[in-house]
Amino acid sequence: MHDISSSIIQWFKINKRDLPWRQTSDPYCIWLSEVILQQTRVIQGLSYYLKFTEIFPNVEKLATASEDQVLELWQGLGYYSRARNLHAAAKFINGDLKGKFPQNYDGLLKLKGIGDYTASAIASFAFHEDKAVVDGNVIRVISRLYGIGEDVRQPKVVQKIKAIAEELLPQGSSYLFNQGIMELGALVCTPQNPKCNQCPVVAHCQAFKLDLKGKIPFKSKLKNKRLRFLNYLLLKVGDEILLSKRGGGDIWEGLYEPILLEDERAYQHIDDFLNAKANKPDLGKIISTSIIPSKKHLLTHQELWVNLCVVELESKPATIPGLWVSGSKIESTPKPIIISKLLSELGAGQLHLAFK
Ligand code: SF4
Repeated sequence: MHDISSSIIQWFKINKRDLPWRQTSDPYCIWLSEVILQQTRVIQGLSYYLKFTEIFPNVEKLATASEDQVLELWQGLGYYSRARNLHAAAKFINGDLKGKFPQNYDGLLKLKGIGDYTASAIASFAFHEDKAVVDGNVIRVISRLYGIGEDVRQPKVVQKIKAIAEELLPQGSSYLFNQGIMELGALVCTPQNPKCNQCPVVAHCQAFKLDLKGKIPFKSKLKNKRLRFLNYLLLKVGDEILLSKRGGGDIWEGLYEPILLEDERAYQHIDDFLNAKANKPDLGKIISTSIIPSKKHLLTHQELWVNLCVVELESKPATIPGLWVSGSKIESTPKPIIISKLLSELGAGQLHLAFK
């Protein structure tokens, strides 16, 4: 076994965090943890993992839940396509595969939302298959160890790092090495101020030797994000508000939102909202209006400016489609994070809306 691999495995055995998905070899639970932890820190992901495994303890329970139930539980984690893919894959396993979870890397790759990384992770951790698992932590550790200063956003650079990870894989105990190097990246070889004095492989590290820890890994800047202005009109009657479900082909598919008036600018006045539609619906008698000014919300490739205009009406307009929701149902209806934030702000405000 390579010195680097054995040092990392020894370190991992002593220093690993006690996390629930490390105490199971159930591929379903490992899959859940991997999907939840993509783009999410362990501290935040842990409570979601516990909720999911309690409410959906197996594939069948997840497959037979409604999409709204799954999205409701996912609220706050963002990147909702992960939850939708998880649900679709569970249905596929429960139906087409007759409940039999795929038992190797190739079978796992056939599931919706599972790419090379997740398939390798489940195959390695649940079935001890000798597959290198390369996530952001591994990219950071290996690029520093081997002094790779090229742009890690480039696929060919990631391929190079993956090839090194494969060379380091100790056959038969690669699952320990994979978990160890990921843990090393999370706890010691952190993005800022790595704790090199606690690192089990400092003697091998080029970035340490050449004092390049602050420069490696190098990530080029992302190209300009798409700028969008989402102006929301929230109709309220009594303690009910009107929400509707987003369709596919855009962000936030399947989540609920107030009436969306997307434009090339952020609306500033009530009249902007009320006059925005060519065929203006008849809202009837307006009791009060209020605006929450635009807030910036960043997604990977988009910069959103989101605002909310609340219009309280005397009665529900008959011509506007959507779902009238009240009380605690508002909180449990799956929504984009930014909409939840704006509604919470209203709840604490002067409108006495029944939001939490
Ligand atoms: Fe990371 Fe420092 Fe260890 Fe190098 S010595 S791998 S920079 S923690």
